[in-house]
Amino acid sequence: MNHRFFEERLFVDEPLPEEEAVLLEEHLQTCERCRALRAAWQETELELKLTQWVSPLEGFSQRWRERYAHQVKVAQQRRAFAVFLLTSAAAAFFAFPFFALLAAPSQPLWLKIVIALYNFSALLPLIDGISTFLFTVFRVVVQVLPPSLELAFGVAFLGLILIWLRMLRKFSFGRFRQP
Ligand SMILES: [Zn+2]
Repeated sequence: MNHRFFEERLFVDEPLPEEEAVLLEEHLQTCERCRALRAAWQETELELKLTQWVSPLEGFSQRWRERYAHQVKVAQQRRAFAVFLLTSAAAAFFAFPFFALLAAPSQPLWLKIVIALYNFSALLPLIDGISTFLFTVFRVVVQVLPPSLELAFGVAFLGLILIWLRMLRKFSFGRFRQP
């Protein structure tokens, strides 16, 4: 469900068109997040009505909504930054042996580069071996499993990739483009 659609309708002061009100109620049944948001908003509204000598300032719900949007954005930025740190750390971890080699004082630079390249090329048979192994396993699995199960595995795998892509979009850059 599209939270943003309902979030916007939670803060509207005038009554909603009937269709939208029904949709909103249905969404609130299933969505704890929006329910909590409405409860918080209603509490704020009630407080304002109780303090009768203070009439709600113009554009109050607008500001409240903006503050909420800002909080959501900050949380997203924190998550994106954590992902960035993690991937950077992983990259540094893999690059470290190469730079450690370059920094070793005993050999001339060209020799270090050659050694680094040699070390990297030593990895290639390993990668080749792993992929051959995985391919062999895959072929055995394909021969043993009934076709319907294979299809199920294929669909599950595709689903995982889709979820992964969605998470990547959500956590890294997807939401920043929205106003
Ligand atoms: Zn929701």
